[in-house]
Amino acid sequence: MPLILLTGYPTSGKTHRATQLHDYLTTRISSLPPSSPSSSLRVHLVSDHTLSIPRTVYNLDTKSQNERSNNASEKDARAMIFGEVKRVLSAKDIVILDHANYIKGWRYQLYCEAKAVRTSHCVVHVGTPVEKCREVNEGRLARRDTENGEEAEIEAVKEQDMPYEKDNWENLVFRYEEPNAFTRWDSPLFTVLWDDTSPPCEAIWDALIGSDAEGGRKVI
Ligand code: ADP
Ligand code: MG
Repeated sequence: MPLILLTGYPTSGKTHRATQLHDYLTTRISSLPPSSPSSSLRVHLVSDHTLSIPRTVYNLDTKSQNERSNNASEKDARAMIFGEVKRVLSAKDIVILDHANYIKGWRYQLYCEAKAVRTSHCVVHVGTPVEKCREVNEGRLARRDTENGEEAEIEAVKEQDMPYEKDNWENLVFRYEEPNAFTRWDSPLFTVLWDDTSPPCEAIWDALIGSDAEGGRKVI
């Protein structure tokens, strides 16, 4: 059913918020009476790591930090993500896309896909300040370097918890295109801040699914 796009700087907390949203939605759906049409909805979490797309697809290779064009491996990764969203998005499926979604043309493409299957969509902006995001990535880089230096038996770090190389991280921030609530493809737009305990889950539910009492399913 609806498509929920997370967006935000690298290491802003998108995976953390996507997990919270996933937990909220699955709990809410399972608490609905079987008579509610929404009780049969399924929730899918799609992200780079669920598709085994490594961080290295964002590597700069020969590009300079301020170059806008992105490389072929990143385009391939986006094609894979788009294919997966298209495969699972249906009248009975909610898709949470935990990805940077930092290009407005890409968000437009996903919005058109939601329209094509006649379902609702929204954007959740993880609005963590850039300094905080950088601190999180630098913490991960420092941990990786310490662990490598120690040559100890290291517990495998999950792909989603890996750092970005410093230049790649800066380049992704440079390329980031902020969502704009006045455009069709970025609205409705919800924002979640670092200190918020959770995303505005109820408002998101109401915007996308509608009231349970009505058994409402928003179709656009
Ligand atoms: P992203 O998916 O955007 O790269 P993550 O969700 O992996 O970012 O978050 C990066 C790190 O910051 C993780 O260790 C996560 O647990 C932590 N984190 C994210 N958001 C918050 C928050 N609001 N409060 C505290 N820690 C957070
Ligand atoms: Mg992540």
